[in-house]
Amino acid sequence: MKIANVKGRLSIVVADGQAVDVETASAGKFSSSIHEAYEQWGAFSAWAKTVDASSASTFADADLDSPVPTPRQIFAIGMNYAKHAAEGGFSVPEEPTIFTKFQSCITGPFAQVPILVDGKNDWETELVAVIGKTARNVKAADAFDYVAGYTMGQDISERVTQGKGPAPQFSFAKSFEGFGPTGPVLVTLDEFADPNDIELGCSVNGDVRQSDSSNDLVFSVPELIEYLSARLTLYPGDLIWTGTPSGVGLGRKPQVYLNVGEELVTWGKGIGEMRNKIVAAK
Ligand code: ZN
Repeated sequence: MKIANVKGRLSIVVADGQAVDVETASAGKFSSSIHEAYEQWGAFSAWAKTVDASSASTFADADLDSPVPTPRQIFAIGMNYAKHAAEGGFSVPEEPTIFTKFQSCITGPFAQVPILVDGKNDWETELVAVIGKTARNVKAADAFDYVAGYTMGQDISERVTQGKGPAPQFSFAKSFEGFGPTGPVLVTLDEFADPNDIELGCSVNGDVRQSDSSNDLVFSVPELIEYLSARLTLYPGDLIWTGTPSGVGLGRKPQVYLNVGEELVTWGKGIGEMRNKIVAAK
């Protein structure tokens, strides 16, 4: 199942460009709020399997907003691909390196991304796991039962701010307005042949900058859920940004960053494609 945020309303995608409005189709049993669906994911996903596709209407890419617009918690993992750790001058961590992105940076899959023109604004393509059930002390073997599905994320990062100060400012420098495109849809795990092997990548103006698979993750999605839930509670609708593969601008020789007017295209196999235009921040 694929779910989408069509003009702010919870929708089920039944074919390319075709979605069923959940509140209408369920006669109000489920509201138009996507976040509410995560909070009752078991009941919602059971009902969603019975939906009548003939009641779908068409939507355009521009109608899509983030499929996870208001996560209570956002976890992001640093250096979680060995080649990316190496290009940043880090060794592969022995435990997950965790920071957050602030909720206000979350934006849609086709939204404009505003950048500070005197900054060094970088791309980081990431597979994002969305929690579908409250999780505490969950073992890796059971962890996928707690995942509503996957979406894609672009962990846009302003490297000058990130490196300023006595300690790195990952959370702030990765949370400027518009720095969290997510989407284009949420896809449930039954749609993937192997939920530990999702091909992902990005291009800038057609030039491929990243291309890898989540089977290269240092810490897999189940391992991250076990690690996090051993220390805190994960809530429905929370996000785990699983880290980025190699190929970021910071790690290139010479370094290269995003420029105003460029189009950043981010994809995940089985999830789809986001297209974000880079604009100057006001
Ligand atoms: Zn990242």
